[in-house]
Amino acid sequence: MHRWEALQQECQNCTRCGLCQTRTNVVFGVGNPKADIMFIGEGPGEQEDLKGEPFVGPAGKLLDDMMSIIDLDRTKVYIANIVKCRPPRNRDPQQEEQEACVDYLYRQIGLVQPKLIVCLGRIAATRLIRPDFRITREHGTWSQINGIPHTAIYHPSALLRDVSKRPETFDDLLSIREKMKQLGICANEKT
Ligand code: SF4
Repeated sequence: MHRWEALQQECQNCTRCGLCQTRTNVVFGVGNPKADIMFIGEGPGEQEDLKGEPFVGPAGKLLDDMMSIIDLDRTKVYIANIVKCRPPRNRDPQQEEQEACVDYLYRQIGLVQPKLIVCLGRIAATRLIRPDFRITREHGTWSQINGIPHTAIYHPSALLRDVSKRPETFDDLLSIREKMKQLGICANEKT
């Protein structure tokens, strides 16, 4: 079996942490598994759990709008989360749940081989960039992790709650576009 499909199937059957007991669907990811860019959020919400797809509903619509500013869409990126099952009542995923699940994400990253990773919000940034990453102060900055440039921007849900953060996020998106240019990433699918 293809390694991507095998990983997806393993994840679909996962019972490694307690979130398996309350999920409707495992939310593996969406987009182009050959993309040069990955967007990583924290975990599925209610609508994502019901549909089995990350970033649907208002936050997903805003993410689509944000990506379109830099000529990206879901056919040109891969979108996943730190945990693949919904934390009840949309609470933050606990450390032990993240630790149980993040290996799936690392394996996804290993197969996609992105040239650039964008963390969406604090949870993804503290897990993938640095445990003490401060999203309010450090969004839009760049770190090289395992040879891959990483940045973090506000989570779309945070931007829905607080529109005053949107101008900063616009600047961060322009920084991502600039980094794409530096890395020779055009907003097209890998062939
Ligand atoms: S959150 Fe991750 S580790 Fe926990 S049951 Fe779901 S897929 Fe498995």
